[in-house]
Amino acid sequence: MPELPEVETTRLGLLPKVKGRRIDEVIVRNRRLRWPIPRNFEKMLAGQTVGDVHRRGKYLLWDCGTGFVLSHLGMSGSLRILQAETAALVHDHVDIVFDNSLVVRYHDPRRFGAMLWLAGRELDHPLLDKLGPEPLSSDFDGNYLHAASRGRRTSIKEFIMNGHVVVGVGNIYASEALFMAGIDPRRYAGTISRARCNKLAESIKQTLANAIRAGGSSLRDYVQADGELGYFQSEAQVYGRDEMPCNVCGSHVRSIRQGQRSTYFCATCQK
Ligand SMILES: [Zn+2]
Repeated sequence: MPELPEVETTRLGLLPKVKGRRIDEVIVRNRRLRWPIPRNFEKMLAGQTVGDVHRRGKYLLWDCGTGFVLSHLGMSGSLRILQAETAALVHDHVDIVFDNSLVVRYHDPRRFGAMLWLAGRELDHPLLDKLGPEPLSSDFDGNYLHAASRGRRTSIKEFIMNGHVVVGVGNIYASEALFMAGIDPRRYAGTISRARCNKLAESIKQTLANAIRAGGSSLRDYVQADGELGYFQSEAQVYGRDEMPCNVCGSHVRSIRQGQRSTYFCATCQK
């Protein structure tokens, strides 16, 4: 599933290709995404110029001046940059065709993603209103995490994955950040000390930034190979390493279920 680093990498790949470019045409092959693509979507976008592409959580917001295209990659979506004449394949649901004969093509086998038009300058859409702070911004730090978690009897892993608390900390990065911070993922959020909240906030930032860097460094290859803004997995210390030796202490990495998601951790390194 595309997580924050993949979405940010997609944004960084799209930006130089679409910034300042006019949208000539939009082709919708299938409207049945998580929310149906509105009937007037093609009409609203045609002739618009993309000024910038922002990211909020895992949403990309394409600023067109008179409104925003809101896109989300869902469980299995990708946005690829291709030459306009490239034939569409199955699951290629939307084409945004630009005046430089490039097309941004939205591909999504499971169709849990979104492609919507938000008219006007205000980003007060219900999908965006209740989102927590951006993990890489200065609004998110140990003090914030400490204050937000007091009295919370939910596991710290589920707490940092809650988008109302902080956006974009997906399952892989939650396990990795907790390992980096040496915190047992089963602990109640409300019992983590201020010093450890500081460490955890820094670990979340570092884990996400490393993944974005890894994606960014391979971006040129993705785009040049076949237009694919592909996904990548950063070097995981614990995620997906069930029963393998911990890289730090050699104990077996353990896997448990928390909130229907797999958590990986080292019971020796994480207390
Ligand atoms: Zn260990």
